[in-house]
Amino acid sequence: MLQMKSLCKIYRTALIETHALRHFNLEVQAGEFVAITGPSGSGKSTFLTIAGLLEAFEDGQYLLDGQDVSRLSDAQRSRLRNEKIGFIFQAFNLIPDLNVLDNIEVPLRYRGLGREERQRRAREALARVGLAARERHYPAELSGGQQQRVAIARALAGSPRLLLADEPTGNLDSHMARSVMDLLEALHREGATIVMVTHDLGLAARAQRHVHVMDGQAVDPANSLHSHPLPA
Ligand code: ADP
Ligand code: ADP
Repeated sequence: MLQMKSLCKIYRTALIETHALRHFNLEVQAGEFVAITGPSGSGKSTFLTIAGLLEAFEDGQYLLDGQDVSRLSDAQRSRLRNEKIGFIFQAFNLIPDLNVLDNIEVPLRYRGLGREERQRRAREALARVGLAARERHYPAELSGGQQQRVAIARALAGSPRLLLADEPTGNLDSHMARSVMDLLEALHREGATIVMVTHDLGLAARAQRHVHVMDGQAVDPANSLHSHPLPA
């Protein structure tokens, strides 16, 4: 699904150069649920924005569903992002003056779907997150956990092959965090590929695979023996 080889990302400001990713390698297979952890500033968000085709990189290769993304035009990249990727953010990013159904419809407008089809898909996604009865509510009328479920419905409405989540439970109390995590697990069982950045090691342990990011490099604990050869 996602294949990054020796990816390098440098942020340049007037005074400093930050090597946010240093020859970063990661493969995620279709249908996997991967949790990404690591200290603040280690490169997790940078990885996620590049994975989501929101940002370019200096060096290395990124294949999304077998397509070399650096060979695509901007328009092709936007199309690929709209078709294949759903985003879930820490700060739900719902539009306050649109009701729940209209919020979920927003990304579908870029798909050239008619209003009726958009509404049908939005209702279906809302039902999947258990909020069918709330379609006319506004975000402020919902709890944080419910708002995040609406945001997940918005991500799902486009039937993305890949769900990218940046601290999806970061603004929720532990009870609501668990219910959002239950939902992500259910989506994974239905076949979704999920990559989730989290600070919460308890939540990370519930994913199928756990990758730790340190100084711009991915360390897969399952493979860590290979990076620490035994003394002769
Ligand atoms: P998080 O990973 O928790 O979402 P951010 O990605 O917003 O946090 O920021 C992580 C680090 O990157 C912080 O140290 C922040 O100061 C730094 N950072 C983010 N954006 C910029 C920027 N535009 N210029 C300089 N530093 C930035
Ligand atoms: P994390 O998500 O793990 O907290 P980030 O990917 O946000 O880490 O940041 C990795 C490094 O890149 C940090 O040193 C951060 O300060 C820097 N960085 C992130 N975004 C920017 C930016 N827009 N401009 C300059 N530096 C940035």
